[in-house]
Amino acid sequence: MGTASELIMYDYPTLLREHHLKATPQRTAILQVMAHEGHISIEMIYEKIKGLFPSLSLATIYKNMIAMQEQGIVKELKIAGFKNRYEIQKQPHHHMVCQKCGSIVDVEFDVAQALEGVSKSHGFELKQIDLSISGICDKCR
Ligand SMILES: [Zn+2]
Ligand SMILES: [Zn+2]
Repeated sequence: MGTASELIMYDYPTLLREHHLKATPQRTAILQVMAHEGHISIEMIYEKIKGLFPSLSLATIYKNMIAMQEQGIVKELKIAGFKNRYEIQKQPHHHMVCQKCGSIVDVEFDVAQALEGVSKSHGFELKQIDLSISGICDKCR
């Protein structure tokens, strides 16, 4: 479990309620798995928690994910060539994606902030930045 154990102790029922969602055991379990894995697909979540909830289906996880996404708890990541991944919302960051295995590393760098001076000097109001950083990860090299 390592360093993620602190995240697993996080009070997800409260987080859900603060975002006007019922704190169901399934949602709490989904968030715990996400906290541990970082970036995860619906299928990977299903594999990890299906043992806990015998009646669980992929569709149920998907529905819960949509609800949590609408409330800003989780974020969907679209990765060319791989299944969409989800992560728990946190401070602005970007992703380095391995083209071979699809692993994702967070890049704690706020591009919007870095570009503030440039955009100001052009009188340009930044709305959205789609930055994709792809390469080959350490394991695949
Ligand atoms: Zn890789
Ligand atoms: Zn991330």
